[in-house]
Amino acid sequence: MKVLVINCGSSSLKYQVIDSDTEGVLAKGLCERIGIDGRLVYQPAGGDKEITDAPMPTHKEAVRMVLDALVNEKTGVLKSLDEVEAIGHRVVHGEEKFRESALITDEMIKTVESCNDLAPLHNPANIIGINACRELMPNVPMVGVFDTAFHAHMPAKAYMYGIPYKYYEQYKVRRYGFHGTSHSFVSKRAAELAGKPYNNLKTIVCHLGNGASISAVENGVSVDTSMGLSPLEGLIMGTRSGDIDPSAIEFIAKKEGWDISRAVQMLNKESGVDGISGVSSDFRDLEAAAAEGNERAQLALDMFCYRVAKYVGAYTAAMNGVDVIAFTAGIGENTKIVRQGVCDYLTFLGITIDDEANNVKGEEKLISTPDSKVKVYVIPTNEELAICRETVEIVKNSR
Ligand code: AMP
Repeated sequence: MKVLVINCGSSSLKYQVIDSDTEGVLAKGLCERIGIDGRLVYQPAGGDKEITDAPMPTHKEAVRMVLDALVNEKTGVLKSLDEVEAIGHRVVHGEEKFRESALITDEMIKTVESCNDLAPLHNPANIIGINACRELMPNVPMVGVFDTAFHAHMPAKAYMYGIPYKYYEQYKVRRYGFHGTSHSFVSKRAAELAGKPYNNLKTIVCHLGNGASISAVENGVSVDTSMGLSPLEGLIMGTRSGDIDPSAIEFIAKKEGWDISRAVQMLNKESGVDGISGVSSDFRDLEAAAAEGNERAQLALDMFCYRVAKYVGAYTAAMNGVDVIAFTAGIGENTKIVRQGVCDYLTFLGITIDDEANNVKGEEKLISTPDSKVKVYVIPTNEELAICRETVEIVKNSR
């Protein structure tokens, strides 16, 4: 089955066409600057990247350009759009209403809209993308795959906050967690690589990208995760603070004369390793600056690794043990010193890292030594493939 996977942001749209039988990517790319001017990046498998600047006032024009590129006589990978048998959409927030991926219907879109409050930047963009595809390809079944779904089975003790219960009842304030598609994909792959049954394994997945989160996956279920009501909680990230004493926010806001929104903007956009180092949110820049003796860049790296290690310790306790740790996403897949820096704290678990094996970038690899008590892997995430797999399963089951 040929599946179009769509991931819509407020002014962007990433796409891939995947043949689910071979799991090969037939074409991929993105539309940028939607609503501003518009640019399509298109790359067929084995071919060169093509960049076309063209007006894209809305996501509908963007989707249309992607579809035209896919059936283009010279560089298209499809003879006709009829070959697309399903479309899988990433949807960020499914609140408590979506615990699994689901077929997109009018009813489902309404329910997703009712979750917009909790993901005001993402969900509306996801819905715009869904509607654009429905208009242009009304007969193709579509599936919504939720970032929050994989974490929807956490126990209440993990997802409740220590605040009056009525705020959970009235406003559904609780931990939801994000990057679920990645945590699910990587934890499943970790079990395969470890040669252990997924439903009898304790895995900690460190999804370390510009946004970063960590999850405890016990017997195939996410039992805890570091992001919360929003993707601001937990690890220190590129520009996000992660965990902080809420009183510090009031303290700074009073000193600066800020309202709550301004303070939260600081926590989301001006904090993290960028805010600490004053150098960059990108770990390549931080590594380079630290190597040249920049102390704040080094401090940011140290704080990042320390926080990840503290969560690994906490989740080991949450599961009463850990069999496998997996590093994924931009930093997890590419930054040796972060993996080493985190694992240096974990020798008490009997973890030892093979320095040579750890010298890896963007490749699946066991980086712990054969005698390490916990297996540690680098596993590149592949959210598009995970969305494609979910989409195929739901569509086949709905027939
Ligand atoms: P993601 O959000 O998963 O795309 O991850 C993006 C982040 O990964 C960037 O901000 C960098 O900090 C980091 N990153 C990507 N590539 C590399 C690399 N080759 N070496 C070190 N860090 C990298």
